[in-house]
Amino acid sequence: MLIDAHVHIDKYGPDLNVALQEIRTHQVFTIAVAMDVPSYERSLEIGDECDLVLPTFGIHPRRAPEYVVRLNELSPLIDESPAIGEIGLDFHWVKDSSQYPAQVKVLEYFLAAAREQKKMVNLHTKGAEKKILDLLERYDIQRAIVHWYSGPLDILRALIQFGAYFTVGVEVSYSETIQAIAREIPDHLLLTETDNPGGLKWLNNVAGMPKDVQNVVDVTARVRNDSPALRARTIHQNFLRLIDADPWLKGLRAVLSPS
Ligand SMILES: [Zn+2]
Repeated sequence: MLIDAHVHIDKYGPDLNVALQEIRTHQVFTIAVAMDVPSYERSLEIGDECDLVLPTFGIHPRRAPEYVVRLNELSPLIDESPAIGEIGLDFHWVKDSSQYPAQVKVLEYFLAAAREQKKMVNLHTKGAEKKILDLLERYDIQRAIVHWYSGPLDILRALIQFGAYFTVGVEVSYSETIQAIAREIPDHLLLTETDNPGGLKWLNNVAGMPKDVQNVVDVTARVRNDSPALRARTIHQNFLRLIDADPWLKGLRAVLSPS
């Protein structure tokens, strides 16, 4: 089984049925992160159609300014969601720094809930890697997935020390920086993602599909000098370990370890 731990499933549009078919055919366990409330609601509908898709609620940093004034409306959705994401900070693509306080406020709201409810979080860290590390420490977040890390290596090492998991994604085929990061992540903390359909589109203007995650596994294995089969098995085991004691994700073990 393959693990695609960061996907915008609600964005597949007309390709959704083909995407779900690929997810079933290639057995791609998929974490469907949300950008905002409508995105989460759509993911829930899609999740009902496929037990390999796990919808999770979050507010993306780009959407933070709109939601910072209505945080209490988010609580019921946070409470019902079995994990949290996409949340985080973006001080790189979001150039308007007057939005950063809203991003931080929304992120802290989610981290406080994640700590209290012992939920896994799926994080966007672009240009704010050190601040994310500080907040993970302050909120004592036990299980974090850092998505598409592309920041400095010293902060990467500190996040590794902290025990965060990392999803290497489609950019590993294109970027030496990402390849260096993919080599630095220890075996036991490495996961895979596509961030599709937008991930690949952003890189080469072709809409990504679920089976692209196999290519991520293959290239990551090559970069690390090991075999794709071993790498896929380790990633699967890592994900099982990550959710092992998670009270919200108990039901997933049967999905992830079919007998
Ligand atoms: Zn994303």
